[in-house]
Amino acid sequence: MNPYVLKYGGTSVESIDQIKDVAKRLAERKSLGQDLVVVISAMGQTTDQLLELAASISETPDRREVDLLLATGEQVSVALLSIALKTLGVNSVGLTGRQAGIFTDDVHTKARISRIETDRIRQHLEAGEIVVVAGFQGVNENGDITTLGRGGSDTSAVSLAAALGCTCELFTDVDGIYTVDPKILPEARKLDSISYEEMLEMASRGAKVIETRAVEFAHKYKVPVIVGLSTGDYPGTLIKELDETMEKRVVTGISVDEDCLMVTVNTVPFESKNIAKIFAAISGENIMIDMISQTAPYNSFVNLTFTSKIEDRFNIKAILEKLKAEFPTIDYVIDDSVIKLSVVGIGMVSQSGVASALFNLFAEHDIDFYQVTTSEISISYTLNAYDRDKAVHMIASAFDL
Ligand code: ASP
Ligand code: MG
Repeated sequence: MNPYVLKYGGTSVESIDQIKDVAKRLAERKSLGQDLVVVISAMGQTTDQLLELAASISETPDRREVDLLLATGEQVSVALLSIALKTLGVNSVGLTGRQAGIFTDDVHTKARISRIETDRIRQHLEAGEIVVVAGFQGVNENGDITTLGRGGSDTSAVSLAAALGCTCELFTDVDGIYTVDPKILPEARKLDSISYEEMLEMASRGAKVIETRAVEFAHKYKVPVIVGLSTGDYPGTLIKELDETMEKRVVTGISVDEDCLMVTVNTVPFESKNIAKIFAAISGENIMIDMISQTAPYNSFVNLTFTSKIEDRFNIKAILEKLKAEFPTIDYVIDDSVIKLSVVGIGMVSQSGVASALFNLFAEHDIDFYQVTTSEISISYTLNAYDRDKAVHMIASAFDL
């Protein structure tokens, strides 16, 4: 029988009462005969608090040790949930990432899962136990503990579902995926379903409900993912392969990335190998970048602009400082007062005029943007953070979101 992989985020296991509630819901599902693998995050703000502890000692704490520290957060919640289950008389076992067979590369604090050995999980399932697994962590081939980057327990869950060949349910504090984050647009609609492609665009461009890498994994291994409220009281949103009803919508949603950093590197000597060097230095640290633009050469120099995440600010600064030794002409600006707003819809593949309609809206409402990039199914802009609500409202009302 196929198991179910369920994941509860930090907001669903913030308190002991919540952990007990989760245990009760798991016990109910178990009594229906379901085999359950449960991935959980650290309680509430634990990961942030652990990071603050490290930061109180050093601005640049050693990343191997940071992983050792952060992984304790999930170990606490796994143990507590398993204790809660056993107290209800339910057989269960709590496992760390290592014990669950989750192996990663060795990029500390941003590791990628390389393989999962599911033997041990399967043995526990066969023994009738609910398997509670620590999200966000794994182990590299040397046996050192690694973590997967913030929000990484979604990836743990989807990868486990892929390895076990089953559906993945992600429980969180919202009841599904909305056309626009309801915190920004309260009247936004909940989607019954969304394609992997659109979800990938929405997540990678700022929608926080699900982690981007988790959607990539789900897409690659065709794992159906349900995002819903941890109480399970309302139907959630199903992320799956494209169907015809989805293709009819021109625009499916808007995502806003407020943790966006716009980095401009000026006066780079004009030669493609220099550009390659800069981006190699950045990607060597597993830093994700986006919206790359380059000016035409002027006096044999070009200016580069790209966007990244606020959390990478110090890493990027350190990398650019190092590059200055090699390229003394360069200077850079790291701007955190911008947001990235993306309009996403698979219908854009077959329908024209979306870009032009958007440019008209920006002009009519007198909103300026710094960069614009397009993919087959999205158009993204960087603009001043203070224009966020105005821009979202004008686009939502024009496209009936
Ligand atoms: N606890 C980790 C974090 O806060 C992982 C997760 O919640 O997904 O980023
Ligand atoms: Mg999360």
